Amino acid sequence: MTESRILARLVLVTLAAALTVTAAAASPRPAAAVTAAAVPAAVEKVARADITQRALAAPIRFLASDLLEGRGPATRGDELTRLYLQTELEGMGYQPAFANGAWQQSFDVVGLKAQFPKAWSFTEPGGKVELAWRDDFIAVSGLQQEKVNIANAELVFVGYGIQASEFQWDDYKGVNLAGKILVMMNNDPDWDPNLFAGKRRLYYGRWDYKYSSAAHQKAAGAIIIHTPASAGYPWQVVQSSWGGEQFELPAAGEERVSVKAWTTEEAMRRLVKSAGFDLDKLIESAHSRDFKPVPLGIKTSLAFTNVLSRVRTANVGGVLPGNDPKLGPQVVIYSAHHDHFGIGEPDKSGDKIYHGAVDNASGCAQVLAIARAFAHLPQRPRRSVMALFVAGEERGLLGSAYYAQHPSFPAGRIAANINIDGGNILGPTRDLTLVSLGKSSLDDIAAGLARAQGRTLVGDQYPDRGYYYRSDQFSFAKIGVPALFFSEGTDVIGKPAGWGRQKHDEWELKQYHQPSDKLDGTWNFDGMIEDAQLDMLAGWLIAQAQALPAWKPGDEFEAARKHALAELAAAKN
Ligand SMILES: [Zn+2]
Repeated sequence: MTESRILARLVLVTLAAALTVTAAAASPRPAAAVTAAAVPAAVEKVARADITQRALAAPIRFLASDLLEGRGPATRGDELTRLYLQTELEGMGYQPAFANGAWQQSFDVVGLKAQFPKAWSFTEPGGKVELAWRDDFIAVSGLQQEKVNIANAELVFVGYGIQASEFQWDDYKGVNLAGKILVMMNNDPDWDPNLFAGKRRLYYGRWDYKYSSAAHQKAAGAIIIHTPASAGYPWQVVQSSWGGEQFELPAAGEERVSVKAWTTEEAMRRLVKSAGFDLDKLIESAHSRDFKPVPLGIKTSLAFTNVLSRVRTANVGGVLPGNDPKLGPQVVIYSAHHDHFGIGEPDKSGDKIYHGAVDNASGCAQVLAIARAFAHLPQRPRRSVMALFVAGEERGLLGSAYYAQHPSFPAGRIAANINIDGGNILGPTRDLTLVSLGKSSLDDIAAGLARAQGRTLVGDQYPDRGYYYRSDQFSFAKIGVPALFFSEGTDVIGKPAGWGRQKHDEWELKQYHQPSDKLDGTWNFDGMIEDAQLDMLAGWLIAQAQALPAWKPGDEFEAARKHALAELAAAKN
Protein backbone atom coordinates (compact mmCIF):
# COMPACT_ATOMS: atom_id res chain seq x y z
CA MET A 1 0.00 0.00 0.00
CA THR A 2 1.33 3.47 -0.86
CA GLU A 3 1.53 6.37 1.57
CA SER A 4 -1.16 8.31 -0.28
CA ARG A 5 -3.51 5.35 0.02
CA ILE A 6 -2.91 5.16 3.76
CA LEU A 7 -3.60 8.87 4.06
CA ALA A 8 -6.72 8.61 1.94
CA ARG A 9 -7.81 5.79 4.17
CA LEU A 10 -7.31 7.78 7.37
CA VAL A 11 -9.39 10.61 5.96
CA LEU A 12 -12.07 8.10 5.11
CA VAL A 13 -11.96 6.56 8.58
CA THR A 14 -12.60 10.01 10.03
CA LEU A 15 -15.41 10.61 7.55
CA ALA A 16 -16.91 7.23 8.34
CA ALA A 17 -16.70 8.13 12.02
CA ALA A 18 -18.72 11.27 11.47
CA LEU A 19 -21.27 9.39 9.39
CA THR A 20 -21.53 6.57 11.88
CA VAL A 21 -22.36 8.84 14.77
CA THR A 22 -25.28 10.25 12.80
CA ALA A 23 -26.40 6.78 11.74
CA ALA A 24 -26.12 5.43 15.26
CA ALA A 25 -28.22 8.23 16.69
CA ALA A 26 -30.99 7.48 14.22
CA SER A 27 -30.68 3.71 14.35
CA PRO A 28 -33.00 1.63 16.52
CA ARG A 29 -30.40 -1.17 16.51
CA PRO A 30 -27.46 -0.18 18.75
CA ALA A 31 -25.52 -3.37 17.91
CA ALA A 32 -25.19 -2.24 14.31
CA ALA A 33 -23.41 0.95 15.34
CA VAL A 34 -20.11 -0.89 15.77
CA THR A 35 -18.14 0.12 12.71
CA ALA A 36 -14.70 1.14 11.60
CA ALA A 37 -15.14 4.31 13.61
CA ALA A 38 -14.68 2.36 16.81
CA VAL A 39 -11.15 1.25 15.94
CA PRO A 40 -8.60 3.32 17.90
CA ALA A 41 -5.55 4.56 16.03
CA ALA A 42 -3.28 2.43 18.24
CA VAL A 43 -5.00 -0.77 17.06
CA GLU A 44 -4.81 0.26 13.41
CA LYS A 45 -1.14 1.06 13.88
CA VAL A 46 -0.39 -2.45 15.13
CA ALA A 47 -2.37 -3.97 12.22
CA ARG A 48 -0.25 -1.99 9.76
CA ALA A 49 3.03 -2.78 11.51
CA ASP A 50 2.45 -6.52 11.78
CA ILE A 51 0.50 -7.36 8.63
CA THR A 52 3.08 -6.71 5.95
CA GLN A 53 4.38 -8.38 2.81
CA ARG A 54 7.31 -9.83 4.73
CA ALA A 55 5.03 -11.28 7.43
CA LEU A 56 2.85 -12.94 4.79
CA ALA A 57 5.45 -14.06 2.25
CA ALA A 58 7.79 -15.83 4.68
CA PRO A 59 5.32 -18.42 6.05
CA ILE A 60 3.90 -18.97 2.55
CA ARG A 61 7.42 -19.65 1.20
CA PHE A 62 8.00 -22.17 3.99
CA LEU A 63 4.60 -23.91 3.93
CA ALA A 64 4.51 -24.18 0.13
CA SER A 65 8.11 -25.37 -0.18
CA ASP A 66 8.99 -28.77 -1.65
CA LEU A 67 10.20 -29.91 1.79
CA LEU A 68 6.63 -29.75 3.15
CA GLU A 69 5.55 -32.11 0.34
CA GLY A 70 2.11 -30.57 -0.17
CA ARG A 71 0.95 -31.03 3.45
CA GLY A 72 -1.18 -34.13 2.80
CA PRO A 73 -2.94 -35.47 5.93
CA ALA A 74 -0.86 -37.86 8.07
CA THR A 75 2.39 -37.23 6.14
CA ARG A 76 5.70 -35.92 7.40
CA GLY A 77 4.82 -32.61 5.71
CA ASP A 78 1.59 -32.51 7.73
CA GLU A 79 3.49 -33.06 11.00
CA LEU A 80 6.09 -30.42 10.14
CA THR A 81 3.34 -27.96 9.24
CA ARG A 82 1.60 -28.49 12.56
CA LEU A 83 4.80 -28.21 14.56
CA TYR A 84 5.66 -24.98 12.75
CA LEU A 85 2.24 -23.40 13.38
CA GLN A 86 2.20 -24.38 17.05
CA THR A 87 5.75 -23.10 17.52
CA GLU A 88 4.83 -19.74 16.00
CA LEU A 89 1.79 -19.39 18.29
CA GLU A 90 3.83 -20.36 21.34
CA GLY A 91 6.46 -17.77 20.45
CA MET A 92 3.80 -15.07 20.21
CA GLY A 93 2.61 -15.77 23.75
CA TYR A 94 -0.57 -17.70 22.94
CA GLN A 95 -1.90 -20.42 25.26
CA PRO A 96 -2.51 -23.97 24.01
CA ALA A 97 -6.13 -24.18 22.82
CA PHE A 98 -6.94 -27.74 23.86
CA ALA A 99 -7.40 -29.79 27.02
CA ASN A 100 -4.36 -30.61 29.16
CA GLY A 101 -2.24 -27.91 27.57
CA ALA A 102 -2.34 -29.42 24.09
CA TRP A 103 -1.63 -27.29 21.01
CA GLN A 104 -3.09 -29.98 18.78
CA GLN A 105 -6.44 -31.73 18.57
CA SER A 106 -5.93 -35.13 16.93
CA PHE A 107 -8.58 -37.09 15.07
CA ASP A 108 -8.86 -40.06 12.73
CA VAL A 109 -9.68 -39.77 9.05
CA VAL A 110 -11.44 -42.80 7.60
CA GLY A 111 -10.77 -43.55 3.93
CA LEU A 112 -13.38 -45.49 1.93
CA LYS A 113 -12.61 -46.97 -1.47
CA ALA A 114 -15.80 -48.59 -2.76
CA GLN A 115 -16.00 -51.24 -5.50
CA PHE A 116 -19.34 -50.84 -7.26
CA PRO A 117 -20.62 -53.23 -9.93
CA LYS A 118 -20.11 -52.02 -13.50
CA ALA A 119 -23.89 -52.05 -13.91
CA TRP A 120 -26.57 -51.20 -11.33
CA SER A 121 -29.76 -53.06 -12.23
CA PHE A 122 -33.33 -52.09 -11.44
CA THR A 123 -36.45 -54.22 -11.75
CA GLU A 124 -39.58 -52.56 -13.07
CA PRO A 125 -43.03 -53.82 -14.04
CA GLY A 126 -41.88 -53.50 -17.65
CA GLY A 127 -38.62 -55.43 -17.20
CA LYS A 128 -35.05 -54.66 -16.19
CA VAL A 129 -33.06 -51.42 -16.62
CA GLU A 130 -29.31 -51.15 -16.06
CA LEU A 131 -27.31 -48.02 -15.30
CA ALA A 132 -23.61 -47.98 -16.18
CA TRP A 133 -20.94 -46.99 -13.61
CA ARG A 134 -19.47 -43.54 -14.39
CA ASP A 135 -21.52 -42.88 -17.54
CA ASP A 136 -24.94 -43.12 -15.83
CA PHE A 137 -24.26 -43.23 -12.12
CA ILE A 138 -21.61 -42.51 -9.52
CA ALA A 139 -21.94 -43.68 -5.95
CA VAL A 140 -20.08 -43.84 -2.66
CA SER A 141 -20.63 -45.91 0.42
CA GLY A 142 -22.63 -44.35 3.21
CA LEU A 143 -21.41 -46.95 5.70
CA GLN A 144 -17.90 -47.43 7.08
CA GLN A 145 -17.86 -51.21 6.72
CA GLU A 146 -16.32 -53.73 4.33
CA LYS A 147 -19.52 -55.17 2.90
CA VAL A 148 -22.70 -53.25 2.15
CA ASN A 149 -25.85 -54.95 0.98
CA ILE A 150 -29.18 -53.44 -0.06
CA ALA A 151 -31.90 -56.00 -0.76
CA ASN A 152 -34.99 -55.34 -2.86
CA ALA A 153 -35.40 -51.67 -1.94
CA GLU A 154 -38.08 -49.57 -3.59
CA LEU A 155 -37.38 -46.24 -5.29
CA VAL A 156 -39.46 -43.25 -4.19
CA PHE A 157 -39.30 -39.82 -5.83
CA VAL A 158 -39.20 -37.21 -3.03
CA GLY A 159 -38.84 -33.94 -4.98
CA TYR A 160 -36.12 -31.81 -3.39
CA GLY A 161 -35.88 -34.01 -0.29
CA ILE A 162 -36.22 -30.91 1.89
CA GLN A 163 -37.85 -30.32 5.28
CA ALA A 164 -37.63 -26.64 6.27
CA SER A 165 -40.12 -25.34 8.79
CA GLU A 166 -39.01 -21.69 8.25
CA PHE A 167 -40.31 -21.98 4.66
CA GLN A 168 -43.27 -24.25 5.56
CA TRP A 169 -41.77 -26.84 3.22
CA ASP A 170 -41.87 -30.61 3.77
CA ASP A 171 -41.31 -32.95 0.84
CA TYR A 172 -41.87 -36.06 2.98
CA LYS A 173 -45.35 -35.31 4.42
CA GLY A 174 -44.93 -37.96 7.09
CA VAL A 175 -44.69 -40.85 4.59
CA ASN A 176 -42.72 -43.81 5.97
CA LEU A 177 -39.54 -43.96 3.86
CA ALA A 178 -37.56 -46.44 5.96
CA GLY A 179 -35.58 -48.84 3.78
CA LYS A 180 -36.45 -46.99 0.54
CA ILE A 181 -34.10 -45.43 -1.98
CA LEU A 182 -34.99 -41.76 -2.29
CA VAL A 183 -34.70 -40.12 -5.71
CA MET A 184 -34.11 -36.39 -5.31
CA MET A 185 -33.67 -33.26 -7.36
CA ASN A 186 -30.54 -31.22 -6.80
CA ASN A 187 -30.56 -27.60 -5.48
CA ASP A 188 -33.48 -25.97 -3.64
CA PRO A 189 -36.55 -24.13 -4.98
CA ASP A 190 -35.10 -21.13 -6.86
CA TRP A 191 -38.01 -19.42 -8.63
CA ASP A 192 -39.22 -17.19 -5.78
CA PRO A 193 -36.95 -14.76 -3.86
CA ASN A 194 -38.98 -15.38 -0.68
CA LEU A 195 -38.56 -19.13 -0.89
CA PHE A 196 -35.11 -20.55 -0.05
CA ALA A 197 -33.52 -17.17 -0.90
CA GLY A 198 -34.38 -17.47 -4.59
CA LYS A 199 -31.39 -18.19 -6.80
CA ARG A 200 -28.96 -18.35 -3.88
CA ARG A 201 -28.21 -21.95 -2.96
CA LEU A 202 -28.86 -22.62 0.71
CA TYR A 203 -27.64 -25.61 2.71
CA TYR A 204 -30.95 -27.28 1.75
CA GLY A 205 -29.78 -27.23 -1.86
CA ARG A 206 -26.55 -29.10 -1.24
CA TRP A 207 -25.84 -32.81 -1.59
CA ASP A 208 -24.59 -33.12 2.01
CA TYR A 209 -27.96 -31.90 3.33
CA LYS A 210 -29.84 -34.22 0.98
CA TYR A 211 -27.97 -37.36 2.00
CA SER A 212 -28.34 -36.60 5.71
CA SER A 213 -32.00 -35.70 5.17
CA ALA A 214 -32.49 -39.16 3.59
CA ALA A 215 -30.64 -40.72 6.54
CA HIS A 216 -33.07 -39.02 8.96
CA GLN A 217 -35.90 -40.75 7.08
CA LYS A 218 -34.05 -44.05 7.72
CA ALA A 219 -33.85 -44.56 3.96
CA ALA A 220 -31.51 -47.23 2.56
CA GLY A 221 -30.06 -44.86 0.03
CA ALA A 222 -30.43 -41.63 -1.91
CA ILE A 223 -29.93 -40.82 -5.58
CA ILE A 224 -29.50 -37.17 -6.58
CA ILE A 225 -30.37 -36.32 -10.18
CA HIS A 226 -27.53 -34.29 -11.65
CA THR A 227 -28.18 -31.49 -14.11
CA PRO A 228 -25.42 -29.00 -14.95
CA ALA A 229 -27.81 -26.13 -14.14
CA SER A 230 -28.89 -27.40 -10.71
CA ALA A 231 -25.38 -28.50 -9.69
CA GLY A 232 -23.47 -25.53 -11.10
CA TYR A 233 -20.93 -27.92 -12.64
CA PRO A 234 -20.86 -30.62 -15.35
CA TRP A 235 -21.18 -34.39 -14.83
CA GLN A 236 -17.38 -34.79 -15.14
CA VAL A 237 -16.99 -32.99 -11.80
CA VAL A 238 -19.27 -35.56 -10.16
CA GLN A 239 -17.20 -38.31 -11.78
CA SER A 240 -13.87 -36.91 -10.61
CA SER A 241 -14.87 -35.87 -7.09
CA TRP A 242 -16.99 -38.94 -6.23
CA GLY A 243 -15.37 -41.64 -8.32
CA GLY A 244 -12.34 -42.22 -6.08
CA GLU A 245 -11.52 -42.66 -2.41
CA GLN A 246 -13.72 -40.72 0.02
CA PHE A 247 -12.66 -39.41 3.42
CA GLU A 248 -14.77 -38.98 6.53
CA LEU A 249 -14.62 -38.58 10.27
CA PRO A 250 -15.17 -41.90 12.05
CA ALA A 251 -18.87 -42.76 12.32
CA ALA A 252 -20.18 -41.76 15.75
CA GLY A 253 -23.60 -43.40 15.88
CA GLU A 254 -25.34 -40.89 13.60
CA GLU A 255 -28.00 -42.06 11.10
CA ARG A 256 -26.52 -43.01 7.72
CA VAL A 257 -27.80 -44.20 4.36
CA SER A 258 -26.08 -47.30 2.91
CA VAL A 259 -25.43 -45.72 -0.48
CA LYS A 260 -25.09 -42.12 -1.68
CA ALA A 261 -25.53 -41.92 -5.43
CA TRP A 262 -25.81 -39.49 -8.34
CA THR A 263 -27.26 -40.18 -11.77
CA THR A 264 -27.28 -38.12 -14.93
CA GLU A 265 -30.63 -36.61 -15.83
CA GLU A 266 -30.72 -38.74 -18.98
CA ALA A 267 -30.19 -41.97 -17.04
CA MET A 268 -32.93 -41.13 -14.51
CA ARG A 269 -35.26 -40.17 -17.36
CA ARG A 270 -34.70 -43.62 -18.91
CA LEU A 271 -35.16 -45.36 -15.54
CA VAL A 272 -38.48 -43.73 -14.62
CA LYS A 273 -39.81 -43.87 -18.18
CA SER A 274 -39.82 -47.64 -18.32
CA ALA A 275 -41.84 -47.57 -15.07
CA GLY A 276 -44.38 -45.35 -16.81
CA PHE A 277 -43.30 -41.94 -15.44
CA ASP A 278 -42.29 -38.76 -17.20
CA LEU A 279 -39.35 -37.18 -15.36
CA ASP A 280 -40.36 -33.64 -16.38
CA LYS A 281 -43.83 -34.17 -14.89
CA LEU A 282 -42.38 -35.56 -11.67
CA ILE A 283 -40.09 -32.53 -11.39
CA GLU A 284 -42.95 -30.17 -12.16
CA SER A 285 -45.08 -31.74 -9.40
CA ALA A 286 -42.27 -31.14 -6.89
CA HIS A 287 -42.40 -27.36 -7.48
CA SER A 288 -45.19 -27.12 -4.93
CA ARG A 289 -45.65 -27.18 -1.17
CA ASP A 290 -48.40 -29.77 -1.72
CA PHE A 291 -46.02 -32.29 -3.29
CA LYS A 292 -46.14 -35.80 -1.80
CA PRO A 293 -43.55 -38.60 -2.27
CA VAL A 294 -44.21 -40.71 -5.37
CA PRO A 295 -43.46 -44.48 -5.14
CA LEU A 296 -41.99 -45.38 -8.54
CA GLY A 297 -42.68 -49.11 -8.53
CA ILE A 298 -38.98 -49.73 -9.24
CA LYS A 299 -36.93 -52.09 -7.06
CA THR A 300 -33.23 -52.68 -6.76
CA SER A 301 -30.70 -54.80 -4.91
CA LEU A 302 -27.12 -53.64 -4.63
CA ALA A 303 -24.07 -55.22 -3.02
CA PHE A 304 -20.60 -53.67 -2.93
CA THR A 305 -17.38 -53.82 -0.94
CA ASN A 306 -15.21 -51.13 0.63
CA VAL A 307 -11.49 -50.97 1.27
CA LEU A 308 -11.16 -49.07 4.55
CA SER A 309 -8.18 -47.11 5.83
CA ARG A 310 -7.58 -44.96 8.88
CA VAL A 311 -4.98 -42.23 9.43
CA ARG A 312 -4.49 -39.55 12.04
CA THR A 313 -4.03 -35.80 11.66
CA ALA A 314 -4.72 -32.78 13.88
CA ASN A 315 -6.02 -29.25 14.21
CA VAL A 316 -3.61 -26.72 15.74
CA GLY A 317 -4.84 -23.92 17.97
CA GLY A 318 -3.74 -21.20 20.36
CA VAL A 319 -5.69 -18.73 22.47
CA LEU A 320 -4.99 -15.19 23.59
CA PRO A 321 -7.23 -14.81 26.66
CA GLY A 322 -9.55 -11.79 26.71
CA ASN A 323 -9.14 -9.25 29.50
CA ASP A 324 -12.81 -8.68 30.33
CA PRO A 325 -14.07 -10.80 33.25
CA LYS A 326 -17.50 -11.21 31.65
CA LEU A 327 -16.63 -11.40 27.94
CA GLY A 328 -13.23 -13.11 28.31
CA PRO A 329 -14.76 -16.63 28.36
CA GLN A 330 -16.17 -15.88 24.89
CA VAL A 331 -13.96 -16.15 21.82
CA VAL A 332 -13.47 -14.91 18.27
CA ILE A 333 -11.99 -17.73 16.21
CA TYR A 334 -9.76 -17.07 13.20
CA SER A 335 -9.43 -20.21 11.10
CA ALA A 336 -7.43 -21.33 8.09
CA HIS A 337 -6.93 -24.88 6.86
CA HIS A 338 -3.32 -26.06 6.89
CA ASP A 339 -3.71 -29.17 4.72
CA HIS A 340 -3.46 -29.59 0.97
CA PHE A 341 -3.27 -32.59 -1.38
CA GLY A 342 0.27 -33.80 -0.65
CA ILE A 343 2.10 -35.66 -3.43
CA GLY A 344 -0.03 -36.90 -6.31
CA GLU A 345 -0.40 -37.11 -10.07
CA PRO A 346 2.35 -35.13 -11.83
CA ASP A 347 1.39 -32.19 -14.02
CA LYS A 348 2.80 -31.57 -17.52
CA SER A 349 6.06 -30.23 -16.09
CA GLY A 350 6.51 -33.40 -14.01
CA ASP A 351 5.88 -31.61 -10.70
CA LYS A 352 3.96 -33.89 -8.36
CA ILE A 353 4.00 -31.82 -5.18
CA TYR A 354 0.71 -30.02 -4.62
CA HIS A 355 2.22 -26.92 -3.00
CA GLY A 356 -1.02 -25.16 -2.11
CA ALA A 357 0.59 -21.72 -1.86
CA VAL A 358 -2.62 -19.74 -2.31
CA ASP A 359 -4.70 -22.68 -1.04
CA ASN A 360 -4.03 -22.38 1.83
CA ALA A 361 -0.50 -21.44 2.86
CA SER A 362 -1.71 -17.88 2.22
CA GLY A 363 -4.61 -18.25 4.66
CA CYS A 364 -2.30 -19.69 7.34
CA ALA A 365 0.13 -16.81 6.81
CA GLN A 366 -2.68 -14.28 7.19
CA VAL A 367 -3.94 -15.86 10.40
CA LEU A 368 -0.38 -15.95 11.78
CA ALA A 369 0.14 -12.26 10.99
CA ILE A 370 -3.24 -11.38 12.50
CA ALA A 371 -2.47 -13.46 15.60
CA ARG A 372 0.83 -11.63 16.01
CA ALA A 373 -0.91 -8.25 15.70
CA PHE A 374 -3.35 -9.22 18.47
CA ALA A 375 -0.43 -10.26 20.69
CA HIS A 376 1.23 -6.87 20.10
CA LEU A 377 -1.80 -4.74 21.04
CA PRO A 378 -1.15 -2.34 23.93
CA GLN A 379 -4.20 -3.86 25.61
CA ARG A 380 -5.75 -7.29 25.20
CA PRO A 381 -9.22 -7.35 23.60
CA ARG A 382 -12.22 -7.98 25.86
CA ARG A 383 -13.10 -11.35 24.33
CA SER A 384 -10.51 -14.07 23.82
CA VAL A 385 -9.02 -14.53 20.36
CA MET A 386 -8.14 -17.94 18.96
CA ALA A 387 -6.01 -18.87 15.97
CA LEU A 388 -7.17 -22.25 14.68
CA PHE A 389 -5.41 -24.08 11.86
CA VAL A 390 -7.69 -26.90 10.81
CA ALA A 391 -6.72 -30.16 9.11
CA GLY A 392 -8.39 -32.14 6.34
CA GLU A 393 -10.34 -29.29 4.71
CA GLU A 394 -9.54 -30.59 1.23
CA ARG A 395 -10.92 -34.02 2.27
CA GLY A 396 -14.32 -32.50 3.09
CA LEU A 397 -13.99 -29.89 5.89
CA LEU A 398 -13.02 -32.69 8.29
CA GLY A 399 -10.88 -30.75 10.78
CA SER A 400 -13.40 -27.95 11.26
CA ALA A 401 -16.23 -30.51 11.49
CA TYR A 402 -14.29 -32.33 14.20
CA TYR A 403 -13.61 -29.08 16.02
CA ALA A 404 -17.30 -28.12 15.79
CA GLN A 405 -18.23 -31.47 17.34
CA HIS A 406 -15.56 -31.09 20.04
CA PRO A 407 -15.12 -27.34 20.46
CA SER A 408 -12.65 -26.03 23.04
CA PHE A 409 -15.19 -23.27 23.85
CA PRO A 410 -18.93 -24.15 24.04
CA ALA A 411 -20.63 -23.19 20.75
CA GLY A 412 -22.69 -20.53 22.54
CA ARG A 413 -19.48 -18.80 23.65
CA ILE A 414 -17.96 -18.63 20.16
CA ALA A 415 -18.82 -15.07 19.17
CA ALA A 416 -17.84 -15.46 15.53
CA ASN A 417 -15.60 -17.27 13.10
CA ILE A 418 -13.42 -15.43 10.60
CA ASN A 419 -12.27 -18.02 8.08
CA ILE A 420 -9.53 -17.35 5.54
CA ASP A 421 -9.18 -19.70 2.58
CA GLY A 422 -6.90 -18.26 -0.09
CA GLY A 423 -5.75 -14.73 -0.68
CA ASN A 424 -5.51 -11.96 -3.23
CA ILE A 425 -2.30 -12.15 -5.30
CA LEU A 426 -3.37 -9.72 -8.03
CA GLY A 427 -3.03 -6.36 -6.26
CA PRO A 428 -5.18 -3.86 -4.35
CA THR A 429 -8.83 -3.72 -5.35
CA ARG A 430 -11.63 -1.19 -5.20
CA ASP A 431 -14.00 -3.95 -4.08
CA LEU A 432 -14.03 -6.78 -1.57
CA THR A 433 -16.24 -9.85 -1.81
CA LEU A 434 -18.05 -10.92 1.35
CA VAL A 435 -19.35 -14.40 0.56
CA SER A 436 -21.33 -14.40 3.83
CA LEU A 437 -23.04 -11.07 3.01
CA GLY A 438 -26.70 -11.01 4.01
CA LYS A 439 -26.46 -13.63 6.72
CA SER A 440 -25.59 -11.89 9.99
CA SER A 441 -24.95 -8.67 11.88
CA LEU A 442 -21.27 -9.08 10.97
CA ASP A 443 -22.15 -7.51 7.60
CA ASP A 444 -22.19 -4.07 9.27
CA ILE A 445 -18.68 -4.48 10.65
CA ALA A 446 -17.34 -5.64 7.29
CA ALA A 447 -19.07 -2.85 5.39
CA GLY A 448 -17.80 -0.16 7.77
CA LEU A 449 -14.21 -1.39 7.55
CA ALA A 450 -14.33 -1.76 3.76
CA ARG A 451 -15.65 1.80 3.53
CA ALA A 452 -12.81 3.00 5.74
CA GLN A 453 -10.38 1.42 3.27
CA GLY A 454 -12.15 3.22 0.44
CA ARG A 455 -13.55 -0.03 -0.88
CA THR A 456 -16.99 -1.34 -1.78
CA LEU A 457 -18.28 -4.51 -0.21
CA VAL A 458 -19.97 -6.84 -2.70
CA GLY A 459 -21.83 -10.11 -2.12
CA ASP A 460 -20.97 -13.58 -3.40
CA GLN A 461 -20.26 -13.25 -7.13
CA TYR A 462 -21.42 -16.85 -7.75
CA PRO A 463 -24.44 -17.28 -5.40
CA ASP A 464 -25.55 -20.47 -7.18
CA ARG A 465 -22.23 -22.22 -6.44
CA GLY A 466 -22.72 -22.21 -2.68
CA TYR A 467 -19.20 -21.06 -1.71
CA TYR A 468 -20.43 -20.29 1.80
CA TYR A 469 -20.84 -24.04 2.33
CA ARG A 470 -17.52 -25.03 0.79
CA SER A 471 -14.99 -23.95 3.39
CA ASP A 472 -14.57 -24.24 7.13
CA GLN A 473 -16.94 -21.43 8.17
CA PHE A 474 -19.75 -23.83 7.24
CA SER A 475 -18.77 -26.19 10.08
CA PHE A 476 -19.11 -23.25 12.47
CA ALA A 477 -22.46 -22.18 10.97
CA LYS A 478 -23.83 -25.67 11.59
CA ILE A 479 -23.28 -25.18 15.34
CA GLY A 480 -24.81 -21.71 15.09
CA VAL A 481 -21.69 -19.55 14.95
CA PRO A 482 -21.96 -16.61 12.50
CA ALA A 483 -18.94 -16.18 10.26
CA LEU A 484 -17.16 -13.64 8.14
CA PHE A 485 -15.94 -15.27 4.95
CA PHE A 486 -14.37 -12.97 2.39
CA SER A 487 -13.11 -13.65 -1.07
CA GLU A 488 -10.77 -11.31 -2.90
CA GLY A 489 -12.13 -8.36 -4.86
CA THR A 490 -11.81 -8.41 -8.63
CA ASP A 491 -11.79 -4.69 -9.48
CA VAL A 492 -8.00 -4.32 -9.42
CA ILE A 493 -6.63 -0.78 -9.15
CA GLY A 494 -4.60 0.26 -12.20
CA LYS A 495 -5.97 -2.53 -14.39
CA PRO A 496 -8.68 -2.39 -17.05
CA ALA A 497 -12.24 -3.44 -16.19
CA GLY A 498 -12.65 -7.21 -16.25
CA TRP A 499 -8.91 -7.90 -15.83
CA GLY A 500 -9.20 -9.11 -12.25
CA ARG A 501 -12.09 -11.43 -13.01
CA GLN A 502 -10.26 -12.82 -16.03
CA LYS A 503 -7.05 -13.46 -14.04
CA HIS A 504 -9.05 -15.03 -11.25
CA ASP A 505 -10.84 -17.39 -13.66
CA GLU A 506 -7.53 -18.25 -15.34
CA TRP A 507 -6.04 -19.11 -11.95
CA GLU A 508 -9.02 -21.36 -11.12
CA LEU A 509 -8.53 -23.18 -14.41
CA LYS A 510 -4.74 -23.58 -14.36
CA GLN A 511 -3.53 -23.43 -10.75
CA TYR A 512 -6.44 -24.31 -8.47
CA HIS A 513 -5.74 -27.73 -6.88
CA GLN A 514 -2.77 -28.21 -9.23
CA PRO A 515 0.96 -28.58 -8.42
CA SER A 516 1.44 -25.13 -10.01
CA ASP A 517 -0.29 -23.34 -7.08
CA LYS A 518 3.14 -21.99 -6.03
CA LEU A 519 4.60 -18.76 -4.70
CA ASP A 520 6.41 -16.92 -7.50
CA GLY A 521 7.57 -13.45 -8.46
CA THR A 522 4.23 -12.54 -10.06
CA TRP A 523 2.43 -12.23 -6.73
CA ASN A 524 1.33 -8.74 -5.72
CA PHE A 525 0.76 -8.77 -1.93
CA ASP A 526 -0.82 -5.31 -1.57
CA GLY A 527 -4.40 -6.60 -1.79
CA MET A 528 -3.78 -9.50 0.58
CA ILE A 529 -2.22 -7.10 3.11
CA GLU A 530 -5.28 -4.84 2.97
CA ASP A 531 -7.66 -7.82 3.27
CA ALA A 532 -5.80 -9.30 6.27
CA GLN A 533 -5.67 -5.92 8.02
CA LEU A 534 -9.42 -5.65 7.58
CA ASP A 535 -9.85 -9.18 8.97
CA MET A 536 -7.78 -8.24 12.02
CA LEU A 537 -9.79 -5.08 12.71
CA ALA A 538 -13.07 -6.95 12.20
CA GLY A 539 -12.06 -9.51 14.82
CA TRP A 540 -11.03 -6.77 17.18
CA LEU A 541 -14.41 -5.02 16.80
CA ILE A 542 -16.24 -8.30 17.39
CA ALA A 543 -14.06 -8.97 20.45
CA GLN A 544 -14.87 -5.52 21.90
CA ALA A 545 -18.60 -5.27 21.18
CA GLN A 546 -20.96 -5.64 24.13
CA ALA A 547 -23.42 -7.86 22.23
CA LEU A 548 -22.72 -11.16 20.49
CA PRO A 549 -23.10 -11.08 16.70
CA ALA A 550 -26.45 -12.45 15.52
CA TRP A 551 -27.84 -14.15 12.42
CA LYS A 552 -30.32 -12.14 10.37
CA PRO A 553 -33.85 -13.12 11.49
CA GLY A 554 -35.03 -16.19 9.59
CA ASP A 555 -31.53 -17.26 8.52
CA GLU A 556 -31.14 -21.01 8.02
CA PHE A 557 -28.65 -21.18 10.94
CA GLU A 558 -30.53 -18.99 13.43
CA ALA A 559 -32.16 -22.03 15.05
CA ALA A 560 -28.74 -23.64 15.64
CA ARG A 561 -27.57 -20.47 17.46
CA LYS A 562 -30.67 -20.40 19.66
CA HIS A 563 -30.06 -24.03 20.50
CA ALA A 564 -26.40 -23.37 21.42
CA LEU A 565 -27.31 -20.39 23.63
CA ALA A 566 -30.07 -22.38 25.34
CA GLU A 567 -27.63 -25.22 26.04
CA LEU A 568 -25.21 -22.76 27.56
CA ALA A 569 -27.93 -21.25 29.76
CA ALA A 570 -29.02 -24.75 30.86
CA ALA A 571 -25.43 -25.68 31.73
CA LYS A 572 -25.13 -22.60 33.96
CA ASN A 573 -28.26 -23.49 35.96
ZN1 LIG B 1 -8.74 -24.07 0.58
